[in-house]
Amino acid sequence: MSFILGLAGGIGSGKSAASQWFESQNIVVVDADIVAREVVMPGQPTLTQIQKTFGDWVLLDNGELNRRALREHIFKEPTARKALESITHPAIRNNIIQQLNAAQSPYVVLVSPLLFETNQHELTNRTLLIDASEELQIQRASQRDGQNIEQIKNIIHVQMPRIEKQKRANDIVLNDGHLDHLYKQLIPLHEKYLALSKKQS
Ligand code: ADP
Repeated sequence: MSFILGLAGGIGSGKSAASQWFESQNIVVVDADIVAREVVMPGQPTLTQIQKTFGDWVLLDNGELNRRALREHIFKEPTARKALESITHPAIRNNIIQQLNAAQSPYVVLVSPLLFETNQHELTNRTLLIDASEELQIQRASQRDGQNIEQIKNIIHVQMPRIEKQKRANDIVLNDGHLDHLYKQLIPLHEKYLALSKKQS
């Protein structure tokens, strides 16, 4: 198994921007957000389990998950959130493990907005936090998604507080300037991860 770097950061912190840079260095990136969408696609056992647990209203007419309805439901009912996560999280984790095992690069990046929250960091050898102030997170995420500020704030508040993530991460990059400033900070870290992965193999 390759050396695995966990890439953490809240919404709009710059995880995807950092991931793209790692990919440009020929490092395979496994994206937990993409996996989370894949496991609930029509035909997947996870979607059937969600339907059985919550009812047929979770499906749209075309058989896809009605994300908006489910999101609103779990926002109102914390126990429903727990029930949903007990179905989705193990499926996501198994799928991530498969992809990490299949990856062929000097090391592999696992990027996840909930790396610490869902214990996905246990799958990694080292963690890197892409850090940004809440103001920057809101500004960037609202520009990217066109989501309103209240929605973004809600997402930030269910994610682990920034200070807690800072305590847990092995490395931290403050993404508070231009993208070039981010990339400049990633170069020496990439060198370090290459060295660490060599040591491991
Ligand atoms: P995350 O994946 O953590 O939610 P993204 O990497 O998608 O965040 O960044 C959110 C938005 O902000 C994207 O449109 C991205 O291109 C932009 N962005 C990220 N970092 C910077 C930066 N340093 N300067 C300018 N724009 C940035």
